[in-house]
Amino acid sequence: MINYLKNIIKGFSTILVGMKVTFINLFRPNVTVQYPNVHPLVRAGSDKMPDNARNKLNVIIPKCTGCKSCEKACPVNCITIETTKVASIDTEKPLMEDGKKRVFWLSQFDIDFAKCCFCGLCTIACPTSAIVHSTDFEYSCYDRNELLVHFSPFNKEQVAEKKRILAEEVKQKAEKALADKQAAEKAAQEQNITDSKIKSSDDQTSANQNIQNNSN
Ligand code: SF4
Ligand code: SF4
Repeated sequence: MINYLKNIIKGFSTILVGMKVTFINLFRPNVTVQYPNVHPLVRAGSDKMPDNARNKLNVIIPKCTGCKSCEKACPVNCITIETTKVASIDTEKPLMEDGKKRVFWLSQFDIDFAKCCFCGLCTIACPTSAIVHSTDFEYSCYDRNELLVHFSPFNKEQVAEKKRILAEEVKQKAEKALADKQAAEKAAQEQNITDSKIKSSDDQTSANQNIQNNSN
């Protein structure tokens, strides 16, 4: 009989322990979000994603040097970068976000989000924090081609123009190098002619001197 009563009391006490947890959480603010009716970013009391959230990537072009470290670090090869050297004869002289001179145009910077596994290795490899996870996680689509995102600010015509300017600079440098070489060769030839004229003049003088000495 005593054991029976003890079991009843124990049963009630365990119910009260469980209800205590329920009762405490009754007055705590909600941590769940009724997505999609409520967006996590606009949920009351929270205006940002967790710091380590790995959402869609974003590339901040003014920070990107075109070093390709992210492309090399990507384990699934979903980043494709093509750079074009900024020609010194280009009238457009862009600066990086930190004020340094830009060395490369980003003629292509594509990320294929159909392949991306959101490992975040590219963001770690980037020396300038130009590639970062954004707060965007809602980009599902019906056509996988839409998941190939182009971050380069240039269209095909602009890329062709930058390549043309660079080729023009290479051509001008090659022509200048050839002209310098020809000028140096011509100067060397003229110097040789002058030297040989002086030598023959000296020889002639010495021969005349010998003749004069012999006649004396
Ligand atoms: S998150 Fe990972 S898989 Fe996606 S682009 Fe970066 S390195 Fe590649
Ligand atoms: S995003 Fe970063 S790592 Fe990738 S090319 Fe630009 S600067 Fe280099």
